[in-house]
Amino acid sequence: MAINKEAYKKLIEELNAEKVTLVAVSKTKPVADIQELYDLGQRDFGENYVQELVDKETVLPKDIRWHFIGHLQSNKVKYIASFVHLIHGVDSLNLLKEINKQAAKNNRVIDCLLQVHIAQEETKFGFDETELNVLMREYANVQMKNITIVGLMGMASFSDDLQKVRSEFKKLKILFDQFNIQHPTLKILSMGMSGDYTIAIEEGSTMVRIGSLLFGAREYQK
Ligand SMILES: *Cc1c(COP(=O)(O)O)cnc(C)c1O
Repeated sequence: MAINKEAYKKLIEELNAEKVTLVAVSKTKPVADIQELYDLGQRDFGENYVQELVDKETVLPKDIRWHFIGHLQSNKVKYIASFVHLIHGVDSLNLLKEINKQAAKNNRVIDCLLQVHIAQEETKFGFDETELNVLMREYANVQMKNITIVGLMGMASFSDDLQKVRSEFKKLKILFDQFNIQHPTLKILSMGMSGDYTIAIEEGSTMVRIGSLLFGAREYQK
């Protein structure tokens, strides 16, 4: 399956104009497709599964910035700690501590985004506002020299109700601005996917995670 070069070029122009970073989500897609997008200049790629990410990192160019955007289990952090660029879905203090530990072993500081639960209907991973407050307080008190919380990440409901999607993004942006006052290290707001990135950008996203628009629909079974 070939990538959609036209869609990529159009998207990049659009995102550059808004100063929004594109993470090309390549989960389930072959290495050849990633290489093709790389050859067009793309460097930020996102993956959801640890083993798949490790396999791809081994064979693809070393200047790719790999984003882990899936649900990360603590016992798997060690496999990606030596190279991962940004971990989007941090959803517990324990996970944060484990990332800190593995980053230290690798003499690195790993950037992390806290995942916030903004969708009303679906059960998705992430903190609510109260939990986020608690975590940011603990983060300020506990010494974790090998991680930096650089922002927030969220996923809106999968819904045709665009007003609802918009209001969920709005909610995340408000939280982001609130936290930014107390924690000036926050600079990334990761929200928006193929189906809703336009709304996400209008609502203040600085980083979008886009897969199917570039790589085509995903097929999970072979
Ligand atoms: C798969 C995935 C995406 C990309 O979804 P598309 O609809 O294909 O653009 C973005 N973010 C997360 C967290 C994902 O799991």
